[in-house]
Amino acid sequence: MEKLRGLKCRECGRGYPSAPSHVCEFCFGPLEVDYDYGALKGRVTRDSIAAGPPSIWRYKDLLPIDGDVAVGHHVGFTPLIRAENLAHELGVKELYIKNDSVCHPTWSFKDRVVSVAVTKAREFGFDTVACASTGNLANSVAAHAAEGRLRSYIFIPADLEPGKVVGTLVYQPTLVAVEGTYDEVNRLCSEVADKYRWAFVNINIRPYYAEGSKTYGYEILEQLGWRTPAHIVVPCAGGSLITKIWKAIKECEVLGLVDRAATKMHAAQAAGCGPIVTMIKTDSDVLRPVRPSTIAKSLAIGNPADGYYAYRAVKESGGSGEHTTDAEIIEGMLLLARTEGIFTETAGGVTVAATKKLLDAGVIPRHESVVICITGNGLKTPDVLYERLETHVTIRPALSAFDRALAELKSKTS
Ligand SMILES: *Cc1c(COP(=O)(O)O)cnc(C)c1O
Ligand SMILES: [Zn+2]
Repeated sequence: MEKLRGLKCRECGRGYPSAPSHVCEFCFGPLEVDYDYGALKGRVTRDSIAAGPPSIWRYKDLLPIDGDVAVGHHVGFTPLIRAENLAHELGVKELYIKNDSVCHPTWSFKDRVVSVAVTKAREFGFDTVACASTGNLANSVAAHAAEGRLRSYIFIPADLEPGKVVGTLVYQPTLVAVEGTYDEVNRLCSEVADKYRWAFVNINIRPYYAEGSKTYGYEILEQLGWRTPAHIVVPCAGGSLITKIWKAIKECEVLGLVDRAATKMHAAQAAGCGPIVTMIKTDSDVLRPVRPSTIAKSLAIGNPADGYYAYRAVKESGGSGEHTTDAEIIEGMLLLARTEGIFTETAGGVTVAATKKLLDAGVIPRHESVVICITGNGLKTPDVLYERLETHVTIRPALSAFDRALAELKSKTS
């Protein structure tokens, strides 16, 4: 199809044919999918999108797929919620939650990138997919490989949360727990990818995989009636999601879907692993890798592949970044649950807490529209909350026992 020109180096601009590769042979810059926007203009309209299915595939013309969709037919098009209660609590006028904690089928935004990557891997003729993961990617690759009847090898840090391990093993992939950090797992996987002909979704298929994140941005704009919000707060791990939401907004401007790409992008990371936010705060385009120490394990990438580009997206848009402590992450999770009835994982706690801090600091003005990206589900990381929540009362099955317990509870809270 004429919309795809192949791949292009993000640094030197050299073009390559479409292939499972991700590094420029000349300058070692990362490769990116290259579209012919001239061919897309006029073909992709608000109406053509509205006529598509209620999933990420309504934006298929803007995704690097040539043939039919192979897996993940129901991924995406998650709710954008007007969060009145949380807005009231935070003292902000117009607040939205983009809720990928209910993304089908594995409850995180990773289903977007994986369904595109696995579909592309099938186009390239692979029979085996693989990934290095901080958890959510593991769940999603294993699920979509099962659906697509592909073999899968999933590499994770050995200390991953039990919820994410079970949520991977249930699909019966080959799961390899590596005694090391995510960054060590990833380095190992680069070597494995060189030796075996497997489609590593976030290594050799990465240019295609990353494009799936754009759909999170398209959906925000479409669900706002093709308006751009003033601010979007995005949790960052490898830095791909924030980069691609920004790319999606700029594409929508180029294609005439929105008037102007007028959104400030804000990066949210844990204080125990926040190299991208550190770049933003110190105004340095050099990333200093860190050794992660945080409960937000899905964001625990100490040497993010797209760190530089995430930094650039934030700068270009006029946005900012904020770190959150583990205590603030828990508070953020509890705040979102208490006000909006949404149970997010630690990464969502990071985003909510960072938004609160940016509002308090006046970086995000309270009268401007804000979208908070909730990217994963709390049922995958219950461990961090279990110890910290008030226990319920346990009683005998008798009304008198209940009466006594109720009186006691009331005296405690009064
Ligand atoms: C992977 C992940 C992110 C960040 O994604 P990057 O594209 O690597 O920055 C955010 N939230 C959750 C829940 C994730 O699993
Ligand atoms: Zn290059």
